[in-house]
This record gives sequence, C-alpha cells and structure tokens, in this order.
Amino acid sequence: MVFTGITDGIARGVEGVQASVSGIFEPTVRLGVTGLSRAGKTVFITGLIANLLHRGRMPQLTAAREGRIETVYLQPQPDVTLPRFDYEGHMAALTGDNPHWPESTRSISELRLSFRTRPDGWFAGWRGPQVLHLDIVDYPGEWLLDLSLMEKSYAQWSEETLARLERRAIAREFLAAARAADAGLTLEEPVAQALARSFTDYLQTARQAGWSDCTPGRFLLPGDLAGSPVLTFAPLPRPAEASRSSLWREMERRYDGYKSKVVTPFFRDHFARIDRQVVLMDVLGAIHQGPQAVEDLRRVMAEVLGAFRVGRTGWLSSLLGARRVEKILFAATKADHLHHEQHPALTDITAALVAEAKGRAEYAGAEVGAMSLAGLRATVEEVAARGGESLPAVRGRLMETGRTAVMYPGALPADPARILSPARGGAEAWLDAEYGLMSFAPARVTLRPGEGPPHIRLDRAAEFLIGDRL
Ligand code: GDP
Repeated sequence: MVFTGITDGIARGVEGVQASVSGIFEPTVRLGVTGLSRAGKTVFITGLIANLLHRGRMPQLTAAREGRIETVYLQPQPDVTLPRFDYEGHMAALTGDNPHWPESTRSISELRLSFRTRPDGWFAGWRGPQVLHLDIVDYPGEWLLDLSLMEKSYAQWSEETLARLERRAIAREFLAAARAADAGLTLEEPVAQALARSFTDYLQTARQAGWSDCTPGRFLLPGDLAGSPVLTFAPLPRPAEASRSSLWREMERRYDGYKSKVVTPFFRDHFARIDRQVVLMDVLGAIHQGPQAVEDLRRVMAEVLGAFRVGRTGWLSSLLGARRVEKILFAATKADHLHHEQHPALTDITAALVAEAKGRAEYAGAEVGAMSLAGLRATVEEVAARGGESLPAVRGRLMETGRTAVMYPGALPADPARILSPARGGAEAWLDAEYGLMSFAPARVTLRPGEGPPHIRLDRAAEFLIGDRL
C-alpha cells in the first residue's frame, strides 16, 4: 500500500514537471463572491487581491507564511465577454490621497489572479514550481433569488405575486395599475413599460422596507439589460381570453425570455462552474437596524442559499449534474466596527443566521465555515472609558464630517439566540440593548513595500478557500 502511494506520487510528480514545462496542465479554481447589495463584495475582493499580491499582512495563509508562494500576478481572464473586476480603480479609491469607498457591485465581473508556488513535502526539490489560476467571480446575491422563478409559469408567478402584494400597503399603487390594465387587449408598448416601471418602483420600495422576496433579481440590479424587453414585464391578473397579440401573451413571452435568456445563462455559464464560494453578509448593519432586519436577512439568506442546496429543484440539479461547490464561507463583513473581543460573538450570530442553509450544504458535501472579517480595516481599536467602565471600542474617521470618533456599538450577546429569537418572534426593537453604528471612511494608508492594505482575517478566509490548493 505504501509502495502504491509512492509510485502514485512519482507519477503525479512527473506529470507536474511535464505540465509546468508545457503549460498544458494549469489548474484553475473558480471562486464565487456573492452577497446582497452593499454586503461588502467590492471591498472584500479588492482587499483580498491586494493582500494576495502583497502578502505582508497574510500570516494565516499557510503557503505565504512558509514562503512557498514565489509570485502572484494578475492575468487576462479566460471569459473575454465578462466585464473585468475593476481592481485598479477600486484600489485607487481606497488607497488614494483622498480615500473613499469604491462603487459597489452592480453586475457580474471577473478577474484572474495566478499563483506560482513551490510545492511542499518530499517532492518539492524536483517537482518544480506549480501554477494555480484563481478566477474570482463577483455577482449580486439578488440574482440567486431568481431560482424561485424557474419552475413557475408566467400565470403561476403572476397569481402568487399579486396575492402576496395584496397584503402590502407599499404595493397599492402598482396593484391599482395592474388591476386597471386589461391584459386581454392588444399590446401597447407604453402600457407595458408603465406597468414594468411601476412594478420595479414597488420592488425598490419593498427592498428598502426590508422585504426579501424582491424578484426578478435583475429588476433591482439590471446590469446592462436595463430597458430591454426581458425586463419590461410585470405580474398581471389573467384575462378571460388572450389572443396572440395581447398584452398578456407578450408579458408571458418576456417572462419566459427572462428565464431562458437571463436566468438560465447565468446559472449555466457562471454559477454552475463555481468551485468555492464566499457569501458575504452585513450582519452588523442588520443588528443595528433591528430585529425585523435580522429576520429578513435570515429569510433572504435562506432563499439565496437554496441555490447551493443540491437536489433543491429538478431544474438546477439537471443543470449542475454531478458538480457541486466544494467549500462555502459565510462571512460577516465590516468587522472593523467592532473591537476584536466582540468578533467571536459576531461570528456565532452569523453561523446561527445561516444554520439551516449550512446544514443542507454540509449534507450536500461542501465544507462550510463562518467568520467575521473586514475587506478594509477603517478603524483602530481603543479602550474607551465611559461612566467608570472600560469598553472595547474602535476609532475612525466619520464619513459625514471627516472627524474622528470613537464608537462602542453595544455588547453583542454571547448567545446568538438573544438576537435571533426576538427577530423570529417578530419583535419591533431589541429589549435590553441598542446597537449603534457609525459609518467610517477608509483611513489614509501608507503602504510599505510587500504589504497590502489593512484588513481583518482576509488571510484566514483565503486559507479556508484556497489554502489546500497552494
Ligand atoms: P457590494 O454592494 O457588496 O459590492 O458592497 P461594497 O463592497 O461596495 O460595500 C458597501 C459599503 O459597505 C461600502 O461603501 C462601505 O461603506 C461599507 N464597507 C464595505 N466593506 C467594509 C469594511 O471592510 N469596513 C468598513 N468599515 N466598511 C465597509
């Protein structure tokens, strides 16, 4: 047995040498980065890339600590039709003379980072350097919510959506327009456009009000599809009769087009090819907003993560085949709003928030982790004295005024149930606590050679996600 192991190793070693000489076999890991709007995807990816290129602040990435990473470089991405993640632009925003937060993710984008590493262990001496390509794919979590449309017809979707909207005051205006439209009449484009606009307005308001079921996802983040017919439809009451040229039939055709031309290609060409996934969540932001926002985040995440639940829908499993995501990391972002003493509590709340989805992913064979991190650390830690008490706080430059402020956001409970139970129970406010939050601007940094911008746990995140492949 031992002998077989060694010959295997030699065989692979020889393969490796040939491969690096010929350049044929260069393994690739596709890392998906998702999360709802404003979760921190852009900042996370920018910080991660910068700190992988310059690894002075990455001690927990084993290959970096052991000095096995010879070089890391940006390369042209393989998908020439996808927008490139604007790493340089975002870095300039974060680390320029007047540091500011970069523009957020609005669509899908990609970037390839390549590693040249020395293998460890017994064969290191004669195996030669290895190349690993890391394709980072950034996409809005909202797009995953569209999975729920795939097995519904336009008639079913319309009926269900309208029934749900009946119970919401914020939908009144759209509902009145939908009821007033006779979908049996011949299509008139301005009517279709007005209905779609009114429905989109409702979705925007619903999202701001904290509702999770804001599909179709591209109505909120249209990318380059804004104004196209696949986004110019709305749920309508079914007319008694609908001829081929009726508004109803055209809306149906567009809805089907949305599924086949927008949702399917995204899942087939991008989602299905992801090997490892980070799901970012602004847990602190939700806690600050209150129990309803936490419950809403829990519900949306359960929905978003349904996409990783193998066997959830016939449609998705037929598309994915035997492929599955190997690792999923759930990460609470913006942890620099907290002193590190409070990070374990934030991580526990995050893990509890996604516990249901996590259980399912583990069942499906993916390795799952949870942590708290910051793509860019905008604060420094400080112990604040308040009323004779010493509080673990942070200090940063306020976004609004540019002035320095010290923040102690309140004690996060060690038991996540103290947050999740009131949220599930429909509480309006936290009973015994208040969680304040300030918006800090990125601090001005002077980067020393070999160092990326300051962060929290990007090295641990990288170790979890790709450490085994370096
Ligand atoms: P996206 O929509 O998921 O791409 O979100 P962004 O990465 O653009 O982040 C949204 C906002 O959250 C930023 O403009 C910042 O205000 C804030 N933010 C994101 N990451 C961090 C972080 O690591 N630390 C702090 N303090 N704020 C962050």
